[in-house]
Amino acid sequence: MQEEPYFVLCILYLVYYIQYTKYRIQTMPHRFFNFFLNLLFPQECLYCHREIDRSYPLCQKCEESIPLFSSWKAPSSIKYLSALGAASSYQNPILQKTIHYFKYRGITSLQFPLSQLLIKFIEQNNYLSFFAKKDIYVIPIPLSKRKLRQRGFNQAELLAQSVALYFHWNYSPNLLQRIKNNPPQAQLKNKEERKNNVKGIFCFPSSTQTLKGKIIVLIDDVFTTGATMEEAARVLKKTRAKKIIGLVLAK
Ligand SMILES: [Zn+2]
Repeated sequence: MQEEPYFVLCILYLVYYIQYTKYRIQTMPHRFFNFFLNLLFPQECLYCHREIDRSYPLCQKCEESIPLFSSWKAPSSIKYLSALGAASSYQNPILQKTIHYFKYRGITSLQFPLSQLLIKFIEQNNYLSFFAKKDIYVIPIPLSKRKLRQRGFNQAELLAQSVALYFHWNYSPNLLQRIKNNPPQAQLKNKEERKNNVKGIFCFPSSTQTLKGKIIVLIDDVFTTGATMEEAARVLKKTRAKKIIGLVLAK
């Protein structure tokens, strides 16, 4: 019986040893690889090209110089949204370029500074703090299957995940589904054409939990005419949610 404490100590030491060596084995090749990669191709800021040492290609100065908007307002043409929050303006060249690298060049590490922008906007404009955390459901605008295959990720999903995680809100990417592959909105200049193009592209799976009386935060990267977000809100309104709120990086 006296050998029992030694036995426990041996087990603890073994667990510690496995954890320690596992950590070294996992990180050494990674650090080694990164060291040579940075030597050959120094990481630089995507906007000012200053050499940086960060986990994403945007320097602190550029990141901090993106100005934040200071209010939640839904344009009068948008019927189904109670409010629309846009963190900043799409006219800002740093933000525009960062979104472009994130979406079209697949630099998914930019999820971090971009979602920080949304988080800072929410914290500075405390409209959402009036609702109980358990009642807030964060839903990203879904991509069409074709676009998701081409891009490999949904940028709205990455942003929505980070925001929901930070504020401890419900993250519910499956409560809105895209059922049609419509032509890209960017190809259409006319507002009416854009509205018709998105008609019937979303559906709400009736088998999932009810959103009755809940607060829905719909997340997308950019708000242009708002046709896609308006169509998503129109569909989700059928769930008898209390409020549907749009949240985007830029408009
Ligand atoms: Zn920079």
